[in-house]
Amino acid sequence: MNHRKPQRAVICLYDGFGYDYYERSQLPAMKSMAAEGMEKRGRAVFPTLTNANTISVCCAAWPSEHGVTTNCYFDEPSGTAKFLEKSDFILVPTIFQRFREVGVRSALLTCKAKTLKLLGEETVVSVAAEEPTPEVVSRYGAPPSMYSAEVNQWLWTIAVDLLKTRPDIGLVYIQTTDYPMHMWGPDETQSLDHMAMLDGLLEEARAAAPDALFLITADHGMNFKTRCLDLRKICASHGIGLRFAVSPVADRLVVHHRGFGGVSYVYLTSERELTAVTKFLRGLVGVEEVLSRREAAERFHLMPERIGDLVVLADRSTVFGDLEAAAEELGPGYRNHGSLYEEEIPLILCGADGILPSSETFVMNFDLTRWLCHTVL
Ligand SMILES: [Zn+2]
Repeated sequence: MNHRKPQRAVICLYDGFGYDYYERSQLPAMKSMAAEGMEKRGRAVFPTLTNANTISVCCAAWPSEHGVTTNCYFDEPSGTAKFLEKSDFILVPTIFQRFREVGVRSALLTCKAKTLKLLGEETVVSVAAEEPTPEVVSRYGAPPSMYSAEVNQWLWTIAVDLLKTRPDIGLVYIQTTDYPMHMWGPDETQSLDHMAMLDGLLEEARAAAPDALFLITADHGMNFKTRCLDLRKICASHGIGLRFAVSPVADRLVVHHRGFGGVSYVYLTSERELTAVTKFLRGLVGVEEVLSRREAAERFHLMPERIGDLVVLADRSTVFGDLEAAAEELGPGYRNHGSLYEEEIPLILCGADGILPSSETFVMNFDLTRWLCHTVL
């Protein structure tokens, strides 16, 4: 174990910040940090959804190790989909826990309350914009709507304040919401404004903590989608009964994506159906691949008991979810994630004391925190 006081670290997880947003926004502060430190095109964990990636980054581990493969899971006893919000789903210690054990205090700032429920137990400061405490409101004002770009500004203002006023906190983790990316493509004015606002705050954070190491990444990208398929209804209309189909992207905040996503976990009524259902699903327009539980677990490092009998991968423009009809054309401007096409995200590291390892060390978003743990613990 390293007994020297570790360098202060700031983990910036920009939700939905695909590599295309990084390329197409100006981002003078972030890009100068990238030039000074390390930057590369990295990959998100599959499925490309918030929980699997957030937990991977916060545990420095694959989903096969920490167990979180979804935002929403099929609860066998009730036969319904439930939101994954309890910390006991996470099977390995978080970095906040591991840092606390070596005397490093952490702060967790997030937009969504679910992140706090999953990860907030070991931190000395915990803020969720969705459910702020009265103390947070009295110091920083009431947060703007969860369905706004301004909520990210509110959150980052707190981060800058903590970096200025709480040097005793050795690890600050900030996670924005992806609502702006759901609403606007990387070239749209509102997106450019949103990214410029975040970049200005990143610059302030850097100025407030010139001693700190900054790790910057995302949980997934975002793409336009044109059609949604309800796999259960499509199967039923062809005489195939599925036990369940769950969209792992679904969470409580569904105004902007209606709980759809580019991947589906399908549960069969019987093992014997495996071949026939696989063949049928593979024939659907919009389905790119159908993997068995074992194939998907191996290929994507998932925990087999926490995915479906089948894992169905959408093509670039398709999402899956529960609909009134079997299929629906989505309106223009509908953006979402979950598929293999939202894997590319930026990896940026800046301000490290000492020599950086070669950029080959970093492939996945959580390789950043894996390296951080390696240097501190
Ligand atoms: Zn996300």
